[in-house]
Amino acid sequence: MALRTIRVIGDEILTKKAREIKEVTPHIRELADDMLETMYAANGAGLAGPQVGVLKRIVVIDVGEGPYIMINPELLETEGEQVGSEGCLSVPGKFGIVARPEKVKARYFDLDMKEHVIEAEGLFARCICHERDHLDGILYTEKTKDGLYDVDEEEEGKGLEE
Ligand code: ZN
Repeated sequence: MALRTIRVIGDEILTKKAREIKEVTPHIRELADDMLETMYAANGAGLAGPQVGVLKRIVVIDVGEGPYIMINPELLETEGEQVGSEGCLSVPGKFGIVARPEKVKARYFDLDMKEHVIEAEGLFARCICHERDHLDGILYTEKTKDGLYDVDEEEEGKGLEE
């Protein structure tokens, strides 16, 4: 495993659409391992392929219930709304207020290309939506209600960083 460099806002790759993964190669497995390691090292709750410079539809998420590796994730259904603060490892030192669905039903494939359908709510739902957006080149900064705020240094690490 190895740490990958996290791309930050202004890097063109963060605005590009990622490609579907058709087959899990050893290269993809290594990528998934590296993404998890990179996310944990940065105290993040999620990380998407484009954030480490790889335009493939893969995200990793851990909101405290253990790691999820999601290949080709799609939202099947959404329900309700939650409005709350959101951060991103590609937008360091900032947060913003973003409205997301309260609940989502999502489909993804694991590293054995086995299909899963899960229901998530709260923070987990927010995280899935945020990471899913990265795969279409969308940053949360485009969805904030009233711009970005600076994270106080002492507060850093406590917020949701994806
Ligand atoms: Zn992000």
